[in-house]
Amino acid sequence: MSSASFDGIPAFAIVSFMAAEKERILTGDTPTGKLHLGHWVGTLENRVALQHEYDLFVISADLHALTTLKDDPARVRDYAREVLLDNLAVGLSPDAITYFIESDVPEIYELAAFFSMYVTHAEALRNPTIKDEIVAKKLGTRYSLGFINYPVYQAADILCVKASLVPVGKDQEAHIEFAREIARTLNARIGYELFPEPQARIGRVGKLVGTDGNPKMSKSLGNTIFLSDTEEEVTRKVMGMYTDPARIHATDPGTVEGNPVFIYLDAFGTDAHRNHIEEYKARYREGKVGDVEVKRFLAAVLNEFLSPIRARRETYAAQPDLLRDILARGAARVRAEAAETLKELRRGLKLTPIA
Ligand code: ATP
Ligand code: MG
Repeated sequence: MSSASFDGIPAFAIVSFMAAEKERILTGDTPTGKLHLGHWVGTLENRVALQHEYDLFVISADLHALTTLKDDPARVRDYAREVLLDNLAVGLSPDAITYFIESDVPEIYELAAFFSMYVTHAEALRNPTIKDEIVAKKLGTRYSLGFINYPVYQAADILCVKASLVPVGKDQEAHIEFAREIARTLNARIGYELFPEPQARIGRVGKLVGTDGNPKMSKSLGNTIFLSDTEEEVTRKVMGMYTDPARIHATDPGTVEGNPVFIYLDAFGTDAHRNHIEEYKARYREGKVGDVEVKRFLAAVLNEFLSPIRARRETYAAQPDLLRDILARGAARVRAEAAETLKELRRGLKLTPIA
């Protein structure tokens, strides 16, 4: 037996068989802006950790981005490129991952059309994340029919490749539950388990606070530190951060709990920073350190975390042909998968012609 084969089976065949056996993950982003620190702790970190153990699909949900950018749609394409670069920059290898743009896979919309027939209007409107986003994004009564429908599209994103795990931030939990219900309903209707019931995997920090103290750092709220920010931008944003509003002087005892500066230190400090962070917390509580000193320390911690990410981003940004190729490969693979899923669904629903 040579080292390149096992009982006559070539090594590449064994490897591709094992790849086919891996469970699938579908996760992704809305191209409404560049990715930020909240995305790292909410979902990117889990993507990185799971990329080799699972068959991982990363979607850029461009149609969904029109929820907030419908009057400026050209920006969606620019952001889709930025979001791809952000994912590559954090170390999500294009060799391990299938990256694709939602609208490159029109089969998803056909699947969503089927799904929408199995969701009641009341259910769609009851979705707590939809309600929160209407308020947070100040949509008032101007939100589109597509906005209410986007959890249905998201279910189609996930189920078109039969993904069983979805690494997301806390705000997405309701949508994943919604996708589970759709899978359950359709499986029951057709009488076998065509779709897995996807599980959410919430990140280490399910919802990272914004630099302004808003409970969610969000591209749409302008309270972000982007993964692509320069050292100067990070330092400037950190120096302007919201801290403990009750603390006027450096000698006033301060509150650490719920203070965004300490939340970020806990989230992005490494083991090597741990003692230093605890020391700052103690001094802050006792009124023995000023905000400026703690913020300078935070800026250094964040810049250390972001430095390799910036470098990788630059390398990929210089290769537009590679970016195009990654997306073309991804679209081709997902189109084939989604077409197969649709065929199975039609067959299950007995919608296929008899002949
Ligand atoms: P938008 O405001 O346009 O919806 P967003 O900042 O919420 O943008 P998305 O692209 O919708 O970003 O989210 C991508 C993923 O990142 C989702 O899984 C979401 O839950 C997660 N995420 C986004 N913001 C945060 C945050 N502040 N903390 C933790 N996870 C987050
Ligand atoms: Mg969002």
